[in-house]
Amino acid sequence: MKIGARPRRPLTAGMRRGTAGTVAVTALVAAVCGTGGPTAAPDPASATTRTVAASRTKAAGAPTVKDAKPVAGAAGERVDCKRAKCVALTFDDGPGRHTDALLRHLAAYRARATFFVVGRNVAANQAIVRRTYAAGHEIGSHTWSHPDLTTLPAAKVRAQFARTDRAIKAAIGVRPKLVRPPYGAFNAAVRKQTRRPLVMWSVDTLDWLHRDSSRVARKTLKSVRPGSVILFHDIHPTTVAAMPKVLKRLSARGYTFVTVSRLYGGRPPKLVYGR
Ligand SMILES: [Zn+2]
Repeated sequence: MKIGARPRRPLTAGMRRGTAGTVAVTALVAAVCGTGGPTAAPDPASATTRTVAASRTKAAGAPTVKDAKPVAGAAGERVDCKRAKCVALTFDDGPGRHTDALLRHLAAYRARATFFVVGRNVAANQAIVRRTYAAGHEIGSHTWSHPDLTTLPAAKVRAQFARTDRAIKAAIGVRPKLVRPPYGAFNAAVRKQTRRPLVMWSVDTLDWLHRDSSRVARKTLKSVRPGSVILFHDIHPTTVAAMPKVLKRLSARGYTFVTVSRLYGGRPPKLVYGR
């Protein structure tokens, strides 16, 4: 869809807007995140670069990132997606209590994925973000509190990005290169507030709506094509439970699971929708 277009799927009854509530922030954000927006993910740094970046991250008050030990040599690091069958699995709204289980599933298939994290969740779960990045996955920004950015003045949009950037940098040592606006909602005014790619998706599993593992797996396996960018939410246990089947079946079909940046050879377009 064009810049300025609304999300493919309008907000539905199942998707309530987040508020500044203090209770169950993760659950709230989850409910709110139904429709992810497109984000462009930066090319993941090499393992060496990551380690260096991590070690430089020890700013005052920032937690050490020494436990971020990159995984070397995983398939997703080397694949050329112009030739191979690649797919980018993307997980929004976390990190959350099910993210570690997801990391184990991904590791079992040497799969790389992209996580569009919500800044306030990062601040509350830095160690999980660090483990995610260290495992070779890409970390993108999904804003600080998951608002519909098209409803905010420019300064607040910038603040949503900046605060999230700081939280991610504190966790992993680098700023996210990709942004996915909540609900996939953006317009020309939002677009002007960051030069980074906005990453959408080509397959919406509607996992947040159905909360049904079989259905998530079925939708994914039916819709995937080489170059697909698939939208999931790792805050739902049903989504995480669907992953072993998804990973197994797509592996059998010859797919390689790569980050969004890798899918585009390290240079994602300004708007990413997948194929
Ligand atoms: Zn979301």
